[in-house]
Amino acid sequence: MKNMLENQVAIVTGSGRGVGRETALMLAEQGARVVVSDKDEAPAAEVVSEIKQKGGEAVLFCGDVTEADFAKKITETTISEFGRLDILVNNAGLTLDNMIHNMTDEQFYTILDIHLVAPFRLIREAAPYMRDAAKEEIEQGIVHHRKIINVSSVAGIRGNVGQANYASAKAGVIGLTKVVALEWGKFNINANAVAFGFIDTRLTKPKEEAEVIAGVQLGIPEKVRNMFIDKIPQKRPGDAKEAAAGILYLASPLSNYVNGQVLQINGGSYT
Ligand code: NAD
Repeated sequence: MKNMLENQVAIVTGSGRGVGRETALMLAEQGARVVVSDKDEAPAAEVVSEIKQKGGEAVLFCGDVTEADFAKKITETTISEFGRLDILVNNAGLTLDNMIHNMTDEQFYTILDIHLVAPFRLIREAAPYMRDAAKEEIEQGIVHHRKIINVSSVAGIRGNVGQANYASAKAGVIGLTKVVALEWGKFNINANAVAFGFIDTRLTKPKEEAEVIAGVQLGIPEKVRNMFIDKIPQKRPGDAKEAAAGILYLASPLSNYVNGQVLQINGGSYT
């Protein structure tokens, strides 16, 4: 299907790399104007250029989702640039793994702030442009669905060793999603989550090759990685495009009667 998102405006957080990047490109390919946002400017600027080169429309908004004014500023930018907001994808994320007995408060709260508090703030800030705008449309007899997609993880469903912070946040964001679905469903706002299994991005590279961020080595030890892959019925990690395709589905009119759900994209594992 082509141009499913024509005249719509989307925010995708963490869209400089990985799943967020592919999501921004796919939404733009379907006609959405996209606010590409990341705390790292260079890769996000490349995504904006790529969208424009392909004939789409995008703007760059740099910032850390955990900053207190992030939600207000990105929403203001979206409205001043594009005048509306139809699709919100809370995707930005990072891991800071440690075993519970060694995990500091800071490690716990940092991950909660990124994966749970930031999506909550952004959804709240979006209310005038999603909830209130929808109310007016409904009064005028217009039926238009807006979409909120929160990115969760298999860790939020069944837990994961070394990820007390991440699993708690990713479970929390599922709860948040379900409440939004209950509160805003009547305004034709669909809120759903995607829960990824093992997707091949910089977060899941072999530890030896992975980047160090804030003093913490990302990635998964090679042996554990191979063990995970072996447990996946499809015997491979997903790629970022396959993960983003699930977000596109939930952002598109194809999912207008899907609300408050968690779409697991995991090659058949953990079900
Ligand atoms: P990635 O590292 O490739 O991309 C994440 C992007 O988010 C990066 O560009 C990063 O700069 C940005 N980001 C991180 N913290 C930020 C912050 N505080 N403010 C703004 N931007 C920030 O990782 P990915 O695998 O594409 O992850 C995307 C989402 O998918 C995350 O929420 C992650 O937790 C989730 N997820 C990934 C996997 C996987 O296997 N890769 C599995 C389950 C869930």
